[in-house]
Amino acid sequence: MRTNRRTFIKQVAVTGAAAAASGGARMVQAEAEIRPELKAFKERWQALPRQSGLKIKSIETFVQGTNLGLVRVRAEDGSEGFGQLSPFDADVSALILHRKLAPLALGADPYDADTLADRCIEANYKYPWSFVCRALCGLDTALWDLRGRREQKSVCQLLGGTAKTIPVYGSSMSRSIQPKAEAERLVRLRDEKGFRAFKIRVGKVCGHDQDEWPGRTAELVPTVRQAIGEKVALLVDGNSCYTPAKAIEVGRMLEQHRVWHFEEPCPYWELEWTAQVAAALEVPVAGGEQDNDLAQWRRMIRLRAVDIAQPDICYVGGITRAVRVAMMAAEAGLKCVPHSANLSLVTLFTAHLFGALPNAGAHMEFTIEKDGWTGGLYAPAFQVVDGRVAIPDGPGWGVTINPDLLAKAEKQISQR
Ligand SMILES: [Mg+2]
Repeated sequence: MRTNRRTFIKQVAVTGAAAAASGGARMVQAEAEIRPELKAFKERWQALPRQSGLKIKSIETFVQGTNLGLVRVRAEDGSEGFGQLSPFDADVSALILHRKLAPLALGADPYDADTLADRCIEANYKYPWSFVCRALCGLDTALWDLRGRREQKSVCQLLGGTAKTIPVYGSSMSRSIQPKAEAERLVRLRDEKGFRAFKIRVGKVCGHDQDEWPGRTAELVPTVRQAIGEKVALLVDGNSCYTPAKAIEVGRMLEQHRVWHFEEPCPYWELEWTAQVAAALEVPVAGGEQDNDLAQWRRMIRLRAVDIAQPDICYVGGITRAVRVAMMAAEAGLKCVPHSANLSLVTLFTAHLFGALPNAGAHMEFTIEKDGWTGGLYAPAFQVVDGRVAIPDGPGWGVTINPDLLAKAEKQISQR
């Protein structure tokens, strides 16, 4: 089983579905192909200058409600960049940014995001991860925008990527939707926007083996698979629902329906449980969206708890730390598909990173839910055409933040 599974994983994770049908020789070739790209990526990353000669002069937050918090960093020469605190309880992250991180960042070189990230983590070692990383994301992503604007390059270009379109998977966030209705809307989106992959939700969030309602998962998966057809990839997310035995049982059913990946089958903190599931199943296991401790990431990868790494740029603390996770995954021969589950700036950050990674997965996550609190946040908004979105090619993030939103937001500034 293990040999078969490893073969399957490498074929799917490294080369995509086409290779899954073409056997081991192709797999070995693909592994050899990824290494020079990783080497080149790492060399570019290490060669990026960490000194600009400037100092960070001010850090501003613009918070709207509790979901959204934008950050503007200015250097002493007037150059500036926008970033975003992690969504959800962004008002709390703004408080952390000003009180706990700004004193560490003001006066630092805006190009030295690496040192700054470590300094922010280490100085807050009594308050590990979570909100420190959520706040750090605001600072880090603003620094990347600032650098891109100064150098007239997109963040994707700074990371060694090029402006291009990338395939996305349509990601359902709903567990309340009926299986038939879910299948119908996915077929509609497939036909209207050309999606070639979708993700659906199984089980219940942190569900202790329970379904959202009895029988939903067993009905949903075959219903959707049949409706969208065999040419469309089907991804499934368990959101920490299952114990290992139940996850393996569900996973076997998913394999029968040719599921592309099984995400977060077990409570995500139970690495050994997830590793047990991953070892037993053929279907690749994806995970890591909640994980923000790089040592935990190292353990997760070493245990082979996941076959596809899904760091969330906002939860993990920004582009700088997400790159470190992606490189760890690449070293281990794993694909990286950062978690980007809403249309705030996190999907924009992810597109730039995705376009540059040597081990980016087959498609980037793209929500299919209504934009709600993210509506009108920046322009131009992403448009899905033929199942793909374009990475903005302007300087920095390549978008304009809605000035009305900035004007109306609750503002706070830390400055030297
Ligand atoms: Mg997920």
